[in-house]
Parts: sequence; structure tokens; C-alpha cells
Amino acid sequence: MGDDLSVLSAGELSPYISDPLAKLFQCAVCNKFTSDSLEALSVHVNTERSLPEEEWRAVIGDIYQCKLCNYNTQLKANFQLHCKTDKHMQKYQLVAHIKEGGKANEWRLKCIAIGNPVHLKCNACDYYTNSVDKLRLHTTNHRHEGAVKLYKHLQKQESAVNSESCYYYCTLCDYSTKAKLNLVQHIRSVKHQQTEGLRKLQLHQQGLAPEEDNLSDLFLVKDCPPNEPGEYHPCTAGITPPHHITPPPQNPSWCTELRTHLAM
Ligand SMILES: [Zn+2]
Ligand SMILES: [Zn+2]
Ligand SMILES: [Zn+2]
Ligand SMILES: [Zn+2]
Repeated sequence: MGDDLSVLSAGELSPYISDPLAKLFQCAVCNKFTSDSLEALSVHVNTERSLPEEEWRAVIGDIYQCKLCNYNTQLKANFQLHCKTDKHMQKYQLVAHIKEGGKANEWRLKCIAIGNPVHLKCNACDYYTNSVDKLRLHTTNHRHEGAVKLYKHLQKQESAVNSESCYYYCTLCDYSTKAKLNLVQHIRSVKHQQTEGLRKLQLHQQGLAPEEDNLSDLFLVKDCPPNEPGEYHPCTAGITPPHHITPPPQNPSWCTELRTHLAM
């Protein structure tokens, strides 16, 4: 059972990032655009968008109709005025923006009444906000900075391997993922925090100072597919042998557990 913990710890993270190419910041309106740059994100958010006419307006007989606002009038002048109102223009931009995300994103059209036109996400922290300024403020917090340090470390490592087939690996937890942002989020998980706490305690007991910048030892980018749970794989076998084959002798809790099992 022990080996399955790495799977559970991934499951407890809110939305699992399936796109290996996802960047740090994401636009949560189209859910498509991602970037490591707040400036690029800001440009994306403020882009003027347009919709094909048939998707938002119609003329039926002598009635002019705005499908976005459910507005009808017989007077062309009134219709033109309607199209210049803030309410209409905001809705128009929002609908066009949502549609940029493709069919899979169209369910969002149902919630545009609540509609804040800006919805952004920090993929490293799973943090949502409604303005670029608030996101910028978020990037100055300590936890975000720690996450970005790991993100950049992985980016640097991945340039040395084939990015098509590489995966990201936490040596402490035997956790691996195809998308590096999942590993960045993994360091917040209960499982990882516990393992890391235990390790610090061990180092302390051995009279060793906890190393601060040991990202290269803890987190690896490997150039071959991760092993299936319970399956022997030459790539990872060399790093951390599966626990049930060789329990690490330096960890007393393993021995106790083993003895308990044998006694039963
Ligand atoms: Zn967008
Ligand atoms: Zn309208
Ligand atoms: Zn963040
Ligand atoms: Zn871990």
C-alpha cells in the first residue's frame, strides 16, 4: 500500500495540470493562454476581440436583436446606441474571449451574467484572482517565490533532456509527473511536507545542518517515461528502489514496521 501514497498525494491537489507545456500564469477566461510573463498576460487580457456577426446579432423582419444581451428594438439608432453601452461591450469582449478557448470552454458562457471579465490563475500556487495587479502582488509572497525557484530549476534541467518524453521526479516521495507545474504544486502537499519534515529531523539527529539549496538533489528531470505503480523500471530503480524490496536501513520506523509485520 505504501507506494500508492504518491498517487494519493497527487489526487489531493486541486485541478491536476494535464498540459505539460503549461506556463506559470494562466488566463482562466479562455483557459488556453499561459505565460511566464505578467506583461504578456496583461497584453493578452487587454486585447480587443471580435465575434462573427451571426454569433451575436440578427435582424428578423424589422427587429434588430442583440443575442448577447437579449435586447430587441425596431429602431436601428437605438440598436447602435445599445452596442456602445459598457454593459454590451463588456459582454461582447467576454463572450469573444471565452470562445477563444474552444468548444471545451463554452460551458463558461452560462456564467457570464456574474462575469468578471478578468480571471487569472497562478499555476504554481493554484491561486485565482481578477486583476493583473493582484497577481503581481501575489508574486511577491514568500510561498510563491519558493515555488518559482523550483519551477525555474526544473526549466533549466529540462533543457538538457528531450522535453517530449521527460518527466519530473521528487526523490523524497518517489512522486513523478509529466507536467512540471504538478511537481511545483506537489511540494505543498501534506505527503511531501511530512516527508521533508522527517528528513530534516533525521539530518538534525545526525548533527547535520539542513541544506537549504538542494533542489538538484531532491527534484530531477528524467528523460524516460515514469514507472507504473508497483512496476520495476530501470530508470527509477537506480535512484530509489521500491520500498518493499529494500527498506532504507537508516530509517528506524521502517525496521519497526517490518518487525511488526513479521510478528503478525
Ligand atoms: Zn484568455
Ligand atoms: Zn448587447
Ligand atoms: Zn503563485
Ligand atoms: Zn515530494
